[in-house]
Amino acid sequence: MNYRHAFHAGNFADVVKHATLARILTHLRSKPAAFRAIDTHAGAGLYDLSGEEASRSGEWHAGIGRLVTAPIAHAVHALLKPYLDVVAALNKASPFVPAEAGTQGQISEQSERPPDSPPSLKLRRAKAAESIEARPASALRASAGWEGARRSPPQTQYALTTYPGSPALARAFLRAQDRLVACELEPKAFAALAHNLARDRRIKTIAIDGWVALNAYVPPPERRGVVIIDPPYEDGADFARLVQSLELAHRKWASGIYLLWYPIKGRQEPDALARSLKRSGIARILRAELAVAATSVQGPLGGCGLIIVNPPWTLADELSVLLPALAKALSSRNSNHRLDWIAGEN
Ligand code: SAH
Repeated sequence: MNYRHAFHAGNFADVVKHATLARILTHLRSKPAAFRAIDTHAGAGLYDLSGEEASRSGEWHAGIGRLVTAPIAHAVHALLKPYLDVVAALNKASPFVPAEAGTQGQISEQSERPPDSPPSLKLRRAKAAESIEARPASALRASAGWEGARRSPPQTQYALTTYPGSPALARAFLRAQDRLVACELEPKAFAALAHNLARDRRIKTIAIDGWVALNAYVPPPERRGVVIIDPPYEDGADFARLVQSLELAHRKWASGIYLLWYPIKGRQEPDALARSLKRSGIARILRAELAVAATSVQGPLGGCGLIIVNPPWTLADELSVLLPALAKALSSRNSNHRLDWIAGEN
């Protein structure tokens, strides 16, 4: 296992994945019944954007760095707010625990606070969203109470130094009755994860193979929740085991929401994935893809995809607004996105 997410934390692919995850978590916490989040490949939980790995790659500048200063339409901002509020809360207090050493305090008190639910919003299709007048309304400004001038130059109100991985993001949405199980196999990443998410009785961090965990922890006692499956795809093996593992889990817990992330370096593996998902017989599967640059097998990651099984009923509409907006905000050219049902709904 060579993959270290610290190089990629906060890049465009994290932004798409985490913005979508935040929509799912917002939906889950909109009902009083308890939910469980199961993160099979959790990573370190928190990432130091000024640390060696993130600085060396610089990927986050074109991801979260760009998003928080981009002019964003109102409707889009409302959908991103739960995600961006977590990022903002984490950075205001900034008690960062390094992923490798991990000896200081834990995630800020503020990030424990449930993010605000987005205001009720009549969702429109992407075209309508595009026509809404663009406003510079980054989360940073919004969280600082900025609601004013339409065209003042975007600027951050604080330095962006810490980025939440999927388990830290999920934690911010937990209420007293909700639970999070975060699994990580690589020892250093696990040590950081355990430290970063410590002292919270709602959360279990477990050093376990995520594929084993997927089979072992479903169905959860709550019977509602989300499984996040985000392996590193270091070789072809992760693509190969995705569908089989999902099928097994789905057989045990058919009503769970499953969020799968995959890289796009060419069409062969993503298309094969879609074909086998179609054959799986799983009834409701939504696919969202975003490319911010030309994709190639050798070069840096240009695109990524998400598979959402049993998406909350509002998610397809929400993504139809978010995807084009993210494509615009995160890419200067060659951007591409698509949203379709692999099974069900059409
Ligand atoms: N989900 C995280 C990023 C995870 S990156 C986020 O969104 O913030 C993928 C992680 O999977 C890496 O930390 C890697 O160490 C871990 N990993 C690799 N193989 C694994 C396995 N078999 N089981 C669990 N974790 C694994």
